[in-house]
Amino acid sequence: MSRIDVLAVASEIFPLVKTGGLADVAGALPKALAPLGVRVRTLVPGYASVMALLEETRTVRRLPDWFGGAARLIAAEAAGLDLFVLDAPHLYRREGGPYADSSGRDFADNPIRFGALARMAASLGQGLAPRYRPAIVHAHDWQTGLAPAYLSYDGGRRPAVVFTIHNLAFQGQFDPRLLESLGLPAESFTPDGVEYYGDIGFLKSGVRLADRITTVSPTYATEICTPQGGMGMDGLLRGRADRLIGILNAIDTDVWDPSTDPMIDAEYTAGQVERRAANKAALQNRMRLEADPEAPLFGVVSRLSWQKGLDLLLEALPALIAEGAQLALLGSGDAALEAGFQAAIRAHPGRIGCVFGYDEALAHQVQAGADAILVPSRFEPCGLTQLCALRYGAVPVVSRVGGLADTVIDAGPMALAAGAATGIQFAPVETAALEMALRRAASLYRKPATWRKLQRAGMAVDVSWTGPAQQYAELYAELIRERAG
Ligand code: ADP
Repeated sequence: MSRIDVLAVASEIFPLVKTGGLADVAGALPKALAPLGVRVRTLVPGYASVMALLEETRTVRRLPDWFGGAARLIAAEAAGLDLFVLDAPHLYRREGGPYADSSGRDFADNPIRFGALARMAASLGQGLAPRYRPAIVHAHDWQTGLAPAYLSYDGGRRPAVVFTIHNLAFQGQFDPRLLESLGLPAESFTPDGVEYYGDIGFLKSGVRLADRITTVSPTYATEICTPQGGMGMDGLLRGRADRLIGILNAIDTDVWDPSTDPMIDAEYTAGQVERRAANKAALQNRMRLEADPEAPLFGVVSRLSWQKGLDLLLEALPALIAEGAQLALLGSGDAALEAGFQAAIRAHPGRIGCVFGYDEALAHQVQAGADAILVPSRFEPCGLTQLCALRYGAVPVVSRVGGLADTVIDAGPMALAAGAATGIQFAPVETAALEMALRRAASLYRKPATWRKLQRAGMAVDVSWTGPAQQYAELYAELIRERAG
């Protein structure tokens, strides 16, 4: 197979800038695709934090007036990634995160900031950089959703476009009066173009105008085509269902490897799960839990948000305590949820421990020390924490939605007997069902041979990028064949 050149475009990329799973995917896919003959270069915004980490920079093009200011397109390397960086100080170099200021307010000019990024992706696709002609532009999430629009309405060379939805909850919907500042022609403002319920829809544009739409699990691909899961976009998605596929996310199995992990107390392999006891004791100590080797220890590593269903866990805590279990939670986000868990610690000291914040090392320690990992999400495009849990021999207890449904095999009698079960699923996503799942988990935990079987089966699951990268490579090759034919 000859080499395929792909220009990816994303608003975040691990390890340079990350707020969620999108960054992990954008950072991991290029490396996983390289051995398959796919060369990915990724266009990212020149946030101050990104600019500081670039190596081997080279100016490709000066842009005297790019969406209201002087900018440059830079080619660079960083952390083994092959990058194009849109260095536009008036758009990207400012205090705060990628999308919001330090107090959490979205930047008012986000449509222009990300319109500018999408337009640059389109220009690169059309041959802006000397000797660079990607066959595919792969755009991620709403921030880059206008890329296919620019390619459709600009005329000229049009590479094939793949658009990936990481989370349909974030759609990027903006005032129609911005059409001109975004450099989009009036004729683009139609239901077959960028118009979405009277506004300009960035994600909508990606869904409508890309050649293929992917999302991050097969079940989520099905769910978003229904009125319940479609968040207003289901009609359009149903109309394009023949262009939509779900490809599971994965994790970096070098970073997440319990046999070599420098962040955990005791390293172990699938044959040595008893060594996890030392990690459990260390986690109980870190989270100010009673030193209790027998108690089933449930862990959570999560954003604290409505999506993640942790309000249901708050309601189910009495059931968890009644089982003699403990909870170790690492999370950040919603203040009301945090207050709820603070109150729970006061009500059950020594049985519930929480750390509020973002802590990479502690995330590893929770995975290595907890007996089970809880993921009671209301919806979950793919979910990464349950994949880490499988790899670390922490049994995932998950709601049966999205990628959680696709990656965990419930410990029903047949799956247990066949040795296929890797965790526990519950449905519907309600408190009573979660309580039942907690009881099931605690009762399985008290059968050590069965529990060990679950752990070993989980640790044997391939959660690496090898399989998913193969699927993306096939998708790109298919699109290129389609074009040639
Ligand atoms: P989402 O992208 O919706 O937040 P995912 O499960 O897809 O959820 O990805 C979340 C990633 O962020 C996982 O790798 C998880 O381990 C990590 N993570 C979430 N919250 C924290 C936290 N408080 N501290 C450290 N890592 C976290």
